[in-house]
Amino acid sequence: DRTRRPVVAGNWKMNGLAASVSELKGIMAGAKAVSGKAELLVCPPATLVASFAKTAKGSTVHIGGQTCYSEASGAFTGEISAEMLADAGATHVIVGHSERRTIFKEKDADVQKKALAARRAGLISIVCVGETKEQREADRATIIVGQQLTGSLPEGAKAANLIVAYEPVWAIGTGLTPTPADIAEMHNFIRERLAARFKAEGEEVRILYGGSVKASNAAELMAVRNVDGALVGGASLKADDFLGIANVYA
Ligand code: PEP
Repeated sequence: DRTRRPVVAGNWKMNGLAASVSELKGIMAGAKAVSGKAELLVCPPATLVASFAKTAKGSTVHIGGQTCYSEASGAFTGEISAEMLADAGATHVIVGHSERRTIFKEKDADVQKKALAARRAGLISIVCVGETKEQREADRATIIVGQQLTGSLPEGAKAANLIVAYEPVWAIGTGLTPTPADIAEMHNFIRERLAARFKAEGEEVRILYGGSVKASNAAELMAVRNVDGALVGGASLKADDFLGIANVYA
């Protein structure tokens, strides 16, 4: 009874050199098994977006960026715009990843501007939200995620230009995951918020789970109601690991 096509997205973070194209080719080869059933996305570092997009052209694997700046061009040394990512062949961009929020001090308002910039450039934004360990232990997880959704999602978002990723900060790169019941509770909460704000479109927005997803836990996590795929960090760097997750949908 799936109406939302699942997405399995890989966030390579600051990893990958030109030679890593071999992993992309491995993912492309394995992607055929899930073709038509799930969408695959690889988000390499910005230096590889153009070459990866060229390599993946005509395949079922999409290429995305890991962040973008809100302005289209100008005196913003070191930044890359959504338009530049689109020009390089990207179709998606991750915004508001917890590492951006924590290390680079991005606020909800910054994330919202980036999501708007992505839409302006014709990219699908993957907006990340998630609570810290302290916030969960203080029973504030849904409050925090609710605030992040309110502040980070752009007005008038549509399922065709927005994906939400729930990534509890304490589950990223730690090997820890919430229980399926906790994931269900949060994804249901996010779905309600999306439906309240974006009406019918909110029902169609994909909500990904991220945080220590690997082949051995993917089936259980992806089976949770309102989990429409995964955002994968560490296990997206090797084609076999990534395909082990994607093949849940084969
Ligand atoms: C991430 O950083 O988006 C992520 C989910 O990382 P990992 O899969 O390594 O926990």
